[in-house]
Amino acid sequence: MVSLRLECAAEQKDELVAALWEDGTQGITETDLNANRVELRAFFEEEFDAAAYAAHGAHWESEPDIDWAAETRAAWPGRLIGERFWIVPPWNEDPTPEGRVRLVINPGVGFGTGADLTTQLCLEALERELRPDDVVFDFGTGSGILALAASSMHTKKVLAADIDTDAVLMAKEDLPPSVGLFIGSIRSIRDGSIDLLLANLNAETITNHAAEMARVLRPGGRVIISGVPPRHGERVVKALTANGIPPREILERDIWLRIVCQASN
Ligand code: SAH
Repeated sequence: MVSLRLECAAEQKDELVAALWEDGTQGITETDLNANRVELRAFFEEEFDAAAYAAHGAHWESEPDIDWAAETRAAWPGRLIGERFWIVPPWNEDPTPEGRVRLVINPGVGFGTGADLTTQLCLEALERELRPDDVVFDFGTGSGILALAASSMHTKKVLAADIDTDAVLMAKEDLPPSVGLFIGSIRSIRDGSIDLLLANLNAETITNHAAEMARVLRPGGRVIISGVPPRHGERVVKALTANGIPPREILERDIWLRIVCQASN
């Protein structure tokens, strides 16, 4: 495999990318350089006359042959998360470590591959907070990972929703049919029906939906929140507290907070 490397001004990029696809490239990478310039690297099976790109300093370089299937496998190792979970992509054949639940998630799809810290923070709280007769709602399910984890722990009922249609269609592939998955949001959940609410969203969405989250919780219901950076923590905590779901635990790890709240009994 070879690559044609060239450099251009940012505003010329789209035109060049279109021309490279037209010339049959198998893929293009872009690197932002200084002063509004971009380096393009277009991959081809073999060299051709690239005179049309000469003005952009185009030159050929040979590229090592890469086994993309093997690279992808290496990029998605099984992950041990918390005390209970073992998250793997569908092609992983490693045995499940003793005492763990195997969660199979296709990493190509939606947010929530298990690699993100916010997802991990939610999973760690989930294994501790979940009770066998809980009704769980995964608000913004993405890949479905939190709903899958909850259902693997044999809780009473798991509901999951996302406003992103593609995410829901893909999550459907990885979730058992017992999970009540739908395209939509928290508005479709009945008043006082949820014991454990999972909300790995952003600060704004959580603040704007604090009243809705309080509405759907049963007395004593719990909420696991992540996706909030520390600088927005105060605003989010204020909104939650004002709606009767004050934080009972706040954990800061790297650039994220995890907040566990509880409604009064
Ligand atoms: N729960 C997964 C994914 C979190 S990413 C995990 O923990 O890894 C957040 C998801 O919430 C995205 O898929 C986004 O589409 C969805 N989302 C954002 N706002 C929403 C809203 N108002 N209602 C429902 N889903 C929402």
